[in-house]
Amino acid sequence: MTKYQIAVIPGDGIGPEVTNGTRAVLEAVAKISGHEFQFTEWLAGGIAIDATGEPLPAATIAGCRKSDAVLLGAVGGPQWDNLPGDIRPERALLGLRGELGLYANIRPAVLHEALAGACPLHPQIAERGIDIVFVRELTGGIYFGERGRRDTQQGEEAYDTEAYSVTEVERIARTGFEMAMKRKRRLTSVDKANVLESSRLWRETMLRVAEEYPEVELDHLYVDNASMQLIKRPDEFDVVVTTNMFGDILSDEAAMITGSIGMLPSASLGAPGTPGMYEPIHGSAPDIAGQDKANPLAAILSAAMMLKFSLNLPSEAAMIENAVTKVLADGFRTGDIYQYSENETVQQLVGTRQMSELVIQALET
Ligand code: NAD
Repeated sequence: MTKYQIAVIPGDGIGPEVTNGTRAVLEAVAKISGHEFQFTEWLAGGIAIDATGEPLPAATIAGCRKSDAVLLGAVGGPQWDNLPGDIRPERALLGLRGELGLYANIRPAVLHEALAGACPLHPQIAERGIDIVFVRELTGGIYFGERGRRDTQQGEEAYDTEAYSVTEVERIARTGFEMAMKRKRRLTSVDKANVLESSRLWRETMLRVAEEYPEVELDHLYVDNASMQLIKRPDEFDVVVTTNMFGDILSDEAAMITGSIGMLPSASLGAPGTPGMYEPIHGSAPDIAGQDKANPLAAILSAAMMLKFSLNLPSEAAMIENAVTKVLADGFRTGDIYQYSENETVQQLVGTRQMSELVIQALET
């Protein structure tokens, strides 16, 4: 029996509801597989501001560093919207990424067969399936580059700077190639090398790292073309690697074409051997918080990613993914995915708790 330490940060809004369900699923997996997951809970976000005055207390950072992986619900809410920028709940996310050195954001965009009706694309495109993994650089580029305002002869001007070092591109390139090696061995690098110097360095570096991975077929797309191709032929993508800003935009586009925000997991990874952070891509959904309406599947699928990437338990991860597929195929839906579903399955509306329990029951069958 192996013991794993998991730091849980429930956060705000629906965060505690979806992480509770996820913990229950992980406990059930532990029983079946004979492993032990030891959970410790930590404060971050608005709830941490209320309790300690800061969004990311030092104890939370220390607790996460000591763990094998971090599972996060969501942070934020209207009651903290008017605080100054450096004590807003969202600072906790940036702080955790920085403190844990999480430079790679992994976002699968999968269209579940039972939810094909949720895809806003033409049915002929949707029926070919969508199964893409986005690898987004998370700690560099324009979101972290030099910025400011200055006076010019034309008046006030604001600027932000896109900058990437070879080292930053090399490490995200390797994450992309390694991911492609575990899948269909196709990697698409997205840049804007026809205009941006930083993109030209990005492309040169991708080509150089590609020499280490001769089995992977690498192609390059300009970001404007990539956004069109994702709509036209999403089935032809396998792994997409791109910069912080392009990844931010394209992964949301991909999220939209795969259906509900309540279904999409993510992982943020750093250097091998450091704890990764796993979270649903949705926010704290204050409009439905505390009403047992939230879809817990994005959080549950984030836990499956955690088992695969940080705990090296791929068959336990597959057990969760298969259970989710079964529950959806059996017609169970939370409100967010209810209206989209295909009519050949009889649908049954369920709440957050029941959806988590159904996944647990499906683990064992
Ligand atoms: P949101 O993702 O919280 O909600 C957008 C819409 O999707 C809402 O109608 C919500 O009810 C619905 N939704 C989201 N998750 C759902 C789920 N699991 N099941 C069913 N429906 C779901 O985005 P928002 O409204 O823009 O932001 C709300 C708060 O969350 C803000 O404070 C924002 O800053 C924060 N936020 C946090 C994160 C994070 O913690 N990673 C990410 C995005 C937004």
